Amino acid sequence: MFRAKSNEQASKFCQEGSEMLKEGNFYEALKAINKSLCLAEPGSLVMCESFAVRSEIYFEMREYQNCLTNIEAAKEHGFEKDNKGLNDREMECKKLMDENKESDLWAFFKLSYPANEKLPFIIKSLEMKEDEKFGKHIITNEDLMAGDVIAIEESCLNFFSPKTLFTKCFNCLKSNLLDLIPSSASVMFCSKECFKFAYKKFNCRNELIRDSLSGNEIKQKMLRIMSESLAIAGSYNELQKLVESSKGKTIFDFDLRGKTDKELKEIILVTLCSLMPKTDCGVEGYLTSTMSLPDGPRRNFFVSFITRLILIYMRNGTKLPGKGTNLPEGGLLLPFVALVNHSCDPNIYVTFVDNKCVFTVIRRIIAGEQIFVNYRSTFKINLN
Ligand SMILES: [Zn+2]
Repeated sequence: MFRAKSNEQASKFCQEGSEMLKEGNFYEALKAINKSLCLAEPGSLVMCESFAVRSEIYFEMREYQNCLTNIEAAKEHGFEKDNKGLNDREMECKKLMDENKESDLWAFFKLSYPANEKLPFIIKSLEMKEDEKFGKHIITNEDLMAGDVIAIEESCLNFFSPKTLFTKCFNCLKSNLLDLIPSSASVMFCSKECFKFAYKKFNCRNELIRDSLSGNEIKQKMLRIMSESLAIAGSYNELQKLVESSKGKTIFDFDLRGKTDKELKEIILVTLCSLMPKTDCGVEGYLTSTMSLPDGPRRNFFVSFITRLILIYMRNGTKLPGKGTNLPEGGLLLPFVALVNHSCDPNIYVTFVDNKCVFTVIRRIIAGEQIFVNYRSTFKINLN
């Protein structure tokens, strides 16, 4: 899957991207350019050409902001500053941006009612209840109508699929309309922040990033959980403290207002750890036989922690549906989704918009009723 950097290979993909653009196949054009960017040597001619072609694709797609960032990247990577074609496109782009203000996706996908004060990603009528029959579950204390958007949840603990190497951010799974930044590990990122966080997670080592994408799926997930959780907590001791403080806590026990990004991630980790795992089906044995783990008491902690999160994923994880296929393109662990029960006759649909889960009501729900999703069918809106 990983190929060494090669300008020759990159040129082929860059050429392919230009051809796809001529055919109007923007998604495939962007994918080919992303491959070219991953293979091109930094500072090479083909790298700046690829950014220039990507700016042309976004121009045709009327994604003018993305077009401008790619023109800038082309120049940063050595494209002649006085290139007429590029400068004309830049001017045209700025003019069109002034004329038609861009459509904001998240102005369309937004909560239909005032948000819960402490949990701003859900509406305020949602409450958590617990009883013997349903365990922890979510009800609404106000009537809801079909079409209402009642929650938009984003995860910080996710699983990346190698199938989306050129179409999603390695760190947060955002597709960003395929406007992704290449890296020396040949994975791509949606932003400099994600780039930095991912490299911190993997101790700045490309081979560890590649390791996390090879081997079977369980091993990939285990490595991801270990590196992600340690990066969130900051150290082994802090992680242990977080896990110990998690007993029985759900996202409803927290107030997310004014929290820093690190604090939010810690809360998500704590609430995930307190979910009920599936019974072990050989995960622990597999873990100890395939991964190199630290010795001493840390070993026991890591074995039980990673096993637990894998089992929680098996029970409560959400798979990101693939483009045009049923094969998942990654997975997410979401503390709010995990509290919503399954029904084959659900009243909520979960749709993925980029890397966020949007909950939409599909039939009238009366105050006091429980909300249900069908775990087996989720939908994705392709933004590409
Ligand atoms: Zn990202």
